[in-house]
Amino acid sequence: MGGTGLALEVTDLSAGYGPVHALRRVSLTVPEGSVVTVLGGNGAGKSTLLRAVSRTLSFHGGAVTSGTVALGGRPIGGLTPDRVVAAGVCQVPEGRQVFARMTVEDNLRAGALGARGDRKARASALRRVHELFPVLADRSRQRAGLLSGGEQQMLAVGRALMASPRLLLLDEPSLGLAPLMAARIADTIREINAQGTTVLLVEQNAALALRLADRAYVLEVGEVALSGPAAELAASDEVRRRYLGVVDEDAAAPDAVVAHPVLSGWEETR
Ligand code: ATP
Repeated sequence: MGGTGLALEVTDLSAGYGPVHALRRVSLTVPEGSVVTVLGGNGAGKSTLLRAVSRTLSFHGGAVTSGTVALGGRPIGGLTPDRVVAAGVCQVPEGRQVFARMTVEDNLRAGALGARGDRKARASALRRVHELFPVLADRSRQRAGLLSGGEQQMLAVGRALMASPRLLLLDEPSLGLAPLMAARIADTIREINAQGTTVLLVEQNAALALRLADRAYVLEVGEVALSGPAAELAASDEVRRRYLGVVDEDAAAPDAVVAHPVLSGWEETR
């Protein structure tokens, strides 16, 4: 994907839906081969960011108002969504969107439409999906609507992999899943990345995402509030308190000395 070493580079991106400003001057980079996560609560702008990258904002009544998105060093401002897929970027949207009345097999086949590559590439993509998610092979003739929530999430990820993306965009894959199933999805994301696919993972589940990612960005009301290596963010007191739900016992003591958050090792970007 180009010679910049960056699968994705978002620079000063602003986007919104009519009068609603959803992203303000967001910049981030996703190095080739890495897992980068974008954290943030409801309405922070995470889905909007992925839609800007996949060029699907207009389907939701939104638009990029300024800034650029580049894939492998090439700006994608003029590309249609199908050209973005052809350029090797696939998005798994929020909410396990599978074709409920179609079989598992046909859902996967639909994922290969418009993708790069020939029959052979599709066959090897299907082998990869079946190895990652054996249940999708076992249940290939069943209607997707009959799968459990976790299995539908596997199918949604599998469908995106059918296009053999270089960059996989995942929108809250753990949403609504029991902890064990969320952990299985996380393991699979790690494996997908180890096989050479770059991953941009949007998550509210900071604990899960920080375990997976190399680097993390925290979005707050459309702006990057924090960013840094995932391990350092996970270890920082402020992130632990605000995003990982860890109670700070000292701060709860009646005569506690108010400590300044230690921001060492990662950038305070606001
Ligand atoms: P969530 O985790 O709840 O999905 P998010 O971080 O993905 O949140 P976005 O969905 O990107 O956040 O929303 C960012 C802002 O844009 C919010 O204020 C939201 O209300 C608004 N927004 C999102 N989609 C639309 C839309 N289709 N039309 C109008 N406003 C929208």
